Amino acid sequence: MHDCLFCRIARGEIPAARVYEDELVLAFKDIQPQRPVHVLVIPRKHITSLAHVGPDDEAVLGRMLAVAGQIAVDQGSTDGFRSIINTGRVGGQEVMHVHMHVVGGPDPVGPMLKR
Ligand code: 5GP
Ligand code: ZN
Repeated sequence: MHDCLFCRIARGEIPAARVYEDELVLAFKDIQPQRPVHVLVIPRKHITSLAHVGPDDEAVLGRMLAVAGQIAVDQGSTDGFRSIINTGRVGGQEVMHVHMHVVGGPDPVGPMLKR
């Protein structure tokens, strides 16, 4: 059992605005949304980052991608969205449990990286 923040959200020990869940993944609204739609999709299982995945993780990582489109539409991002996975220090990852940001809304998200 892991004590990390997103494991605790997955177990229901910390509240989150859940928008989707199945046996492999969970999605909830980001606490500090950067766009009108900002959802985090996480594996129920603790995986520290994309730099820590193994062959057993392929199904859950695939599920994270597979559910993103419907979550975006359900949340009101009906004409596309951006999915982002930050990894490690260089990637700017703050919470060390794999999570995919799904960001969007009515307007374009903007350039991929700030310069
Ligand atoms: P990272 O920088 O690791 O890719 O993104 C972490 C994200 O988690 C941030 O966008 C941050 O706002 C979000 N976050 C941090 N703590 C919480 C929390 O307790 N609840 C929710 N819903 N989101 C959180
Ligand atoms: Zn965790």
